[in-house]
Amino acid sequence: MNDCVFCRIAAGEAPATKVYEDDTLCAFLDIRPITRGHTLVIPKQHAAELEDLDAELGARIFRTGHRLALAIRRSSLATDGANLVLNDGTAAFQTVPHVHLHVVPRKHGDILRFAKGFLLRRSHDPVGTAAAIRAGMAALDNEGEDPEERVDR
Ligand code: 5GP
Ligand code: ZN
Repeated sequence: MNDCVFCRIAAGEAPATKVYEDDTLCAFLDIRPITRGHTLVIPKQHAAELEDLDAELGARIFRTGHRLALAIRRSSLATDGANLVLNDGTAAFQTVPHVHLHVVPRKHGDILRFAKGFLLRRSHDPVGTAAAIRAGMAALDNEGEDPEERVDR
């Protein structure tokens, strides 16, 4: 049995609040979010660190993180930006040994809230938050411009 928690989430064998999924990757809410909407994008195939990750899959992970950042801005979470962070290896404080890209939504002037969230890491209304993000993705798609093409430019 695979004892990697993110492999189990990807396979649907462990609970997670997913916001996006395709054949090769999925995105779900961080269980201990720094800010509301803090999302993780992971490959479905296990790769512990960047050393183990196929480069094309890495590009797809970033592309999805990019799309999520745009979608969250358009969502009712009404954010102004995001930190996209990937901690590679224990030297960089990676704690779950399955590659994951953090998308941490930010607002102008949120530094105190961000610092408090960094310390407390409390989840708030994950079901409503995921619904808001999915609605943001739909809004992005409805803009009539393919966000994947925009990333390619
Ligand atoms: P790292 O420090 O490895 O870059 O970040 C790991 C992240 O995974 C942390 O933000 C942590 O809260 C999150 N995490 C750890 N275990 C789980 C889990 O079982 N489910 C979810 N949704 N997130 C997790
Ligand atoms: Zn894994």
